[in-house]
Amino acid sequence: MIEEEFDAIVIGAGMSGNAAAYTMASHGLKVLQLERGEYPGSKNVQGAIMYANMLEKIIPDFRDDAPLERHLVEQRLWVMDDTSHTGFHYRSDDFNEAKPNRYTIIRAQFDKWFSRKVREAGATVLCETTVTELVRDAKGKVIGVRTDRAGGAIYADVVVLAEGVSGLLGTRAGLREMPKPETVALAVKEMHFLPEEVIEQRFGLKGDEGCVIEAVGTISRGMAGLGFLYTNKESISLGIGCLVSDFATAMESPYALLDALKNHPSIRPLIAGSEVKEYAAHLIPEGGHKAIPQLFGDGWVVVGDAAQLNNAVHREGSNLAMTSGRIAAEAIVQVKSRNNPMTKRNLTLYKAMLDKSFVVKDLRKYKDIPALLHTNSSNFFTTYPQLISQAAQNFMRVDGTPKIEKEKATTAAFIKARSRWGLVSDAVRLAFAWR
Ligand SMILES: Cc1cc2nc3c(=O)[nH]c(=O)nc-3n(C[C@H](O)[C@H](O)[C@H](O)COP(=O)(O)OP(=O)(O)OC[C@H]3O[C@@H](n4cnc5c(N)ncnc54)[C@H](O)[C@@H]3O)c2cc1C
Repeated sequence: MIEEEFDAIVIGAGMSGNAAAYTMASHGLKVLQLERGEYPGSKNVQGAIMYANMLEKIIPDFRDDAPLERHLVEQRLWVMDDTSHTGFHYRSDDFNEAKPNRYTIIRAQFDKWFSRKVREAGATVLCETTVTELVRDAKGKVIGVRTDRAGGAIYADVVVLAEGVSGLLGTRAGLREMPKPETVALAVKEMHFLPEEVIEQRFGLKGDEGCVIEAVGTISRGMAGLGFLYTNKESISLGIGCLVSDFATAMESPYALLDALKNHPSIRPLIAGSEVKEYAAHLIPEGGHKAIPQLFGDGWVVVGDAAQLNNAVHREGSNLAMTSGRIAAEAIVQVKSRNNPMTKRNLTLYKAMLDKSFVVKDLRKYKDIPALLHTNSSNFFTTYPQLISQAAQNFMRVDGTPKIEKEKATTAAFIKARSRWGLVSDAVRLAFAWR
């Protein structure tokens, strides 16, 4: 198939793989990138919010030609019960800045653009090519890959595994364990198409401004989960995800959850009259810091979702993917520039650099939150959202009941549902997990 030898082979053309391939190629390394999809992005799913700062560190002038949808000026965080939502909304004109901070994107278009940049930087990109196996030498060092194309192995000094959350290659090669059902979420998403001006009217937007809604509550039926609605130029991405282990225990179907979300009285008017053109389902790593596997070894590094680098608490993944891809590439460039071999010892540099970045610092900070939310999911995702809604309604409804009695009724409802000790214990555990 390919006779030449490469400095690096990158497996996967998602956010992490493209960041790694671009960074190495633009530093003059001879890079081969292999992607199983028909084109980069054809297999990839994201909400999708893209974080500009992390892309700027790779391609500073990306705004000149990247396919961006809307820049975000408003974020709504909703706690929902079956008929209501209680919201925290933040909107600021400060986000209408020359270089906006967050954008919505459509991955199929964005990944194609990113891949074009990778090729322009000098890398060879081959699509419709699935890597089937890592090739090792007699001492176990990874020295290349085999693919589903005819021909033999392709060799490189280092292989970057950017193969996404399932990470089958890394697992099969014994580099890491298969992600466990309790550390990965399954998310389903639909694209609802509407005229641009309808989206702008419904969300109070002008021009390229965008708004996102993220929601927790009874929509996940007692499971740890999140619903989301992101505005694109002419479409709305609507989705919901919960832990795979919760889906299995509760015998719930993701499609049923998404249908219920679409019919929720707070969501239905926002998507009314839309045409659904796309449907996708994908896993998200949610195990946090504890789920991060070994990140490097003799002749290999792992980046992005394949390394389980995803901040479920802040709903960030693509920025961790781009940053880990870039940092792995920078470490490889440094090892190469010193004419050192790509051994486990030398590639420790990648982990040392990643540990200093926001990626590992953030995951370490919130290391106890995923487990806390998952083990107490019915309290956090059903009981409290229902109580918050009751309290808000009690406060809003004017019916001649003296306010002092309303306050007592709200307090009594919380104590009845969770007991004084239960409330204190939940608050303390949450505070400790967040510290
Ligand atoms: C529904 C949903 C919503 C999300 N929303 C957001 C969001 O709003 N913001 C955010 O920052 N993150 C979000 N994420 C997370 C984000 O999508 C991921 O963190 C990010 O895509 C990870 O990038 P990656 O390059 O590591 O993996 P991927 O993007 O999954 O790319 C992996 C690539 O490897 C290829 N591949 C796999 N195996 C092989 C093989 N053997 N040979 C060749 N190629 C292979 C795949 O085809 C794919 O192209 C969301 C995820 C989901 C599922």
